[in-house]
This record gives sequence, C-alpha cells and structure tokens, in this order.
Amino acid sequence: MEIVACPKCQNTKVVKSGIIKERQRYLCKSCTYYFTVNKVGKKIDDYYVTKALQLYLEGLSYREIERIIGVSHVSISNWVKEFKIKKPPHPNYHPSYKIFKHAELVEYLKNKDQLSGAGMIITELGDKFMLIKWERFKD
Ligand SMILES: [Zn+2]
Repeated sequence: MEIVACPKCQNTKVVKSGIIKERQRYLCKSCTYYFTVNKVGKKIDDYYVTKALQLYLEGLSYREIERIIGVSHVSISNWVKEFKIKKPPHPNYHPSYKIFKHAELVEYLKNKDQLSGAGMIITELGDKFMLIKWERFKD
C-alpha cells in the first residue's frame, strides 16, 4: 500500500507512467511533472500506516481517520487486515481529539485540569500535533 504524492505540488492525483531503472515512474495529473518514487517516499508511507493504526486502536472510526490524516478509509481497512490489528473493545468511551499548533498545545497543557482524570496521547501530525484524549473514571 502506498500513498504517492507529487513532490512538486503535493497533489495525489498521480498515474503510473512506466518503469525507469527498476523504479516506478509517475505522472502528476495536476502539474504534469514526472517523477519516480524513492525510498524516502516509502518511509512516509509507513509513517501514515502507523498513525492510522494508532488512531484505529484508540477507537476512532475509519472515516474519522480518513478526515484526520487524509488517507482513504479503504486503505486503512486494508492495513487493519494486512497487519491483523485487533481492536480491544472500548464500550464506555469514545476518545475526543484536537489538532494543535505547538504554541496552542503548550497553552492547553498548562492547565492542569485538562490533564487530570483523563488519558491522552500526543502524536505528531505534519507540522502540527494531535492530542487524543479519553476520560476515565466517568459513569
Ligand atoms: Zn504535481
């Protein structure tokens, strides 16, 4: 599974366009730039796979994950199958999540009330941060 984006304009509307030196060549339909995918591209793919599966384990739905990291819910469902991810049941809560710029995140965490009685993880998301939070000890 790979997410290919044009290195010039970041558009993901790319089509396969032959093999050059054993590497897949792509054509960007947005800016007509030709490029091949190198190892760096593969690394970014793994990064999104991990993020998607993390969010899935935290109880977010495929559609929510699609909205957050911009990969299709079909891809996410394929990864869940491929890596045989089994989600433990989360009967009593659904996590909430917020996206922060760094300064906003620092500001948010300054308030101790935000931290007590809740579990949370912070994960990097491009140039921003995502905070996933679930309330515990709540009936
Ligand atoms: Zn392009």
